[in-house]
Amino acid sequence: MSKLVLKNKSGCGALSVAAEGNQVSVAGWVNARRDLGGLIFIELRDASGKIQLVADPNRNKQVHDIFSTVRSEYVIAAIGCVSKRPAGSENTETPTGLIEIYPEEVELLNTCKPLPFQLDQACQVDEALRLKYRFLDLRRDEMQYNLLLRHRIMQAMRHYLDKERFIEVETPILSKATPEGARDFLVPSRLNPGTWYALPQSPQLFKQTLMISGIERYYQIARCFRDEDLRADRQPEFTQLDVEMSFIDEDDVMAVTEGVLLEVFRCIGVELTVPFRHLKYDEAMERFGSDKPDLRYDLELKDLTDIAKTCQFNAFQAVATAGGQVKALCIPDGNASVSRKQLDLWQQAARSAGAKGLVWLGFGTDGVRSSGVAQHLSGQELDLMKQATGAGEGDLILIVADTAKDVANILGRLRCKLAEELKLIDTTRHELVWITDFPMFEFDEKEGRLMAVHHPFTSPRLDHVQLLESEPQLAKARAYDIVYNGVEIGGGSIRIHNQEVQSRAFAAIGLTAEVARDKFGFLLDALESGAPPHGGIALGLDRIVMLLVGGRSIRDVIAFPKTQSGSCLMTGAPSEAGEEQLKELKMTSHPAVLPSNC
Ligand code: ASP
Repeated sequence: MSKLVLKNKSGCGALSVAAEGNQVSVAGWVNARRDLGGLIFIELRDASGKIQLVADPNRNKQVHDIFSTVRSEYVIAAIGCVSKRPAGSENTETPTGLIEIYPEEVELLNTCKPLPFQLDQACQVDEALRLKYRFLDLRRDEMQYNLLLRHRIMQAMRHYLDKERFIEVETPILSKATPEGARDFLVPSRLNPGTWYALPQSPQLFKQTLMISGIERYYQIARCFRDEDLRADRQPEFTQLDVEMSFIDEDDVMAVTEGVLLEVFRCIGVELTVPFRHLKYDEAMERFGSDKPDLRYDLELKDLTDIAKTCQFNAFQAVATAGGQVKALCIPDGNASVSRKQLDLWQQAARSAGAKGLVWLGFGTDGVRSSGVAQHLSGQELDLMKQATGAGEGDLILIVADTAKDVANILGRLRCKLAEELKLIDTTRHELVWITDFPMFEFDEKEGRLMAVHHPFTSPRLDHVQLLESEPQLAKARAYDIVYNGVEIGGGSIRIHNQEVQSRAFAAIGLTAEVARDKFGFLLDALESGAPPHGGIALGLDRIVMLLVGGRSIRDVIAFPKTQSGSCLMTGAPSEAGEEQLKELKMTSHPAVLPSNC
């Protein structure tokens, strides 16, 4: 029977009252089983959904006997007629809740040993257990939905880009190490002992090369690899939608990206409004203290530096006159009377974001409360602060004085925390914003040199090319990031397509001409061989899917993710290599612990 059933199998979740009276065959996993003494009910699950099967010993003893022995996650096939459930026993909550099947034949296709965790209780078990038994975890409705939505999103991307005349080109996985960016994963070459491939951190240089090869409109749903210490939302391998176009400028890349995202959001039934808003990097930092501002709520940073310059409160005056900034967040709605305990918690949060202190001023109905600052400020200064922050009766302002960079960082982080705590976020909104006009370079304390903010192939603004040598920190890049509800979901730039400018950009980040030639000789050659103006973007697929399913971890939208320490708990990767394999690679294994006489 199973052969017949498996060939003509109906989807459990695809059946409806329209199939009443039809003989159907179904197959799947026993999702739940209820034995009422006489009748036994089985909820059968397959990729399409669930259907109820009923065994009545008076109707079919054989079927009832099999139903008596099956357990959760056994695999069975059944043939029977679809019937309406008796009045009163319908379940309107599930799509197939109006129907059931009394099987005429059932076959046990496979058993299942006792489960390490119940699938409907997966949220309560340790994630490590779910990852070890990922084949079970992925059977859950939530995970099936996540993978289905991921597939739909990838299809939407491909469909849109194909319609827009982009072609998908695969670029190599075995690639060359790059000196900029994150750490590479290296793979030894057996045929060229002593040499290594690097897994690509992104197809950046290949996609640029494709433009020089005349492809004009490229995309790829590309796997990328970065050997970094993993944070909660990072994976050593991740997927991005990678796009590159020739003979275009920023507006063209943005229009295509907006078209892609419009289709992507349609997968969850959301209609976005295009074009998206634009914010320059400097303005985003000034107003929101972040280059990935969440625009679903206001809570903007307000500048008090001018008032601070002449005030009698030393801590403010000293910072303001030394070129620093004094800025505030105004928290409305009666927060002037918030408890000391709460204020202490916010002060602690500011400190852990790097603040030396957090000054607060509450404008209550019975006067001004403050963290010991109000007595140093005149009535006029207090009024000016109220005006500058927009604070009214009952409002509280939180003030930080420091360097511009630290003020933005501290208040930017506090802004997000307060919005969450005070429930200021309108979670029904979808706020997409382009951040533009990034600086080309920033000084990296650890490296002691300038580093590219995006990557060193990003074009400076045309009128800033001459700053590459004189004042590189002031040069702005033709780069853009796309931010969704406070999360960066992609970024890209117009590229340098002139060999001489590229060499100068390398020099600005301290790459000698020899190193630049050694690492990027092919690019420099290609740029001298008729390179068209070009640019592109990459969108983080894992992150987008995670945000659209409302998940908290990208592990939940990747079929087989790695843990924080980079291992796959299901397969046990990474693992040691055998002596034979190592010998072929002309490598030896190094014992982790040396003998004591060494
Ligand atoms: N290659 C860049 C990245 O992976 C994106 C781009 O510039 O297109 O972040």
